[in-house]
Amino acid sequence: MEHPELIKQMAAPLLAWYDREARVLPWRENTDPYRVWVSEIMLQQTRVEAVLPYYERFLAAFPTLQALAAAPEEQLLKLWEGLGYYSRARNLQKAAREALERFGGLPGTVKELSSLPGIGAYTAGAVASIAFSQPVPAVDGNVLRVLARLTDSRDDVLSPAVKREAERCVAAAIPRERPGDFNQAIMDLGATVCLPNGAPRCEDCPLSAICLGRARGTAAQLPVKAKKKERRVEEQTVLVLLDGEGRAALEKRPPKGLLAGMWQLPLLPGHAGEETTRAALESRGLAVKSLEPLGEASHIFTHVEWRMTGWLARVDGGGGFTWAAPEELEERYALPSAFRAYRGACF
Ligand code: SF4
Repeated sequence: MEHPELIKQMAAPLLAWYDREARVLPWRENTDPYRVWVSEIMLQQTRVEAVLPYYERFLAAFPTLQALAAAPEEQLLKLWEGLGYYSRARNLQKAAREALERFGGLPGTVKELSSLPGIGAYTAGAVASIAFSQPVPAVDGNVLRVLARLTDSRDDVLSPAVKREAERCVAAAIPRERPGDFNQAIMDLGATVCLPNGAPRCEDCPLSAICLGRARGTAAQLPVKAKKKERRVEEQTVLVLLDGEGRAALEKRPPKGLLAGMWQLPLLPGHAGEETTRAALESRGLAVKSLEPLGEASHIFTHVEWRMTGWLARVDGGGGFTWAAPEELEERYALPSAFRAYRGACF
C-alpha cells in the first residue's frame, strides 16, 4: 500500500468526525472486555442492525465470562439461532472456558487473545484496542476499503500480504492516546460513509480533502478484489416429517463441516422425487401415511449454495430421529436459518 503518510494524516480529521458522528451502540457504552469481545464475534459477517437484538438477549442470559463458560450448549445455540455461522457461538464458549482456565479472565494482549478459539487478528486487535487501550490495528474488509480508496491503491485487498501491509500502516498511524476510538472510527467510516459497492459518500467524508481516490476519481472502482472462487451448488431435499402427535423429526449434523453438530430437518441428497422419498423413509422403518410436495428454496453459505426442494410426510414416529413438539422447536432446538422456508410446515 503506497502513501502510508496519508494513513497517518487521517487520524486528526477522523477522530474529530468520530467525536461528532460515532454511532451509539450498546457495546460502546461500557467497554468491558467481555462485552466488547461478544460484540466483535457477533459482528463478524453480520450487520450491526441484525446483531443488536441478539446482543441484548445474549448479554442478559450470559452477563459474564463465567456465565457463558457454564452455559448449556443448547441454550447457547438457541440464543444464536438465526445469526448463522454457529461455530462462532461454540468458539465463544470454548474461548470463555479457556480464558478463565489459562488467564483467569479475558487477556489484554493481541498475542494472548489470538491464542483463544475463534479470535483472529482483527478481533484480537479490536478487543485489545477498544477494551484494553492497546495501540494495535484492527483491519477488516471495511478498513481495507477505506485505506485502498484513501491511498488510491490497486492492490488486491483479499491478499494476505496486502492486509499485513495495511496492518503495519495502521499500527504506525494509531494515536497512542485513543487507539480504540481510532479503530472504531475507521470501521464507522467504512460502514456509514465510505460505503461498499461503488457508493462512497465523499461529500460527507472527513477525509475528502486528503483522499487520493476521490481526487483521482477512482474511489468508486476501489478496492480491487481478485475474483473469488465460485460457490459450489448442492441440491438437497428437505423432509418435514410429522408423527401422529404433531412432532417434527430432527437429526444432528455430523460433528465436522458445514453447520457442524447442528440440529436439522432430515435431508436427502439431490432433488428426490416422490418414489425415492417414500423408499428412503420406508428404509428407515417409517410407515408413510401421506406425502405432499413443499416448495423450492435456496440458502447461501460462504462457499456453498443449497438449492432445496421439500416433502411433508405424515409418518409413525421412530426411524432413529429426535421428535420435537412445536414448543420444543420454539424454545429448545436451534434450527439453522437455511431451513427457514420449511420450518413453518413443522407446526
Ligand atoms: S473521500 Fe470518499 S473515497 Fe475517500 S475515504 Fe472518504 S468516502 Fe471514501
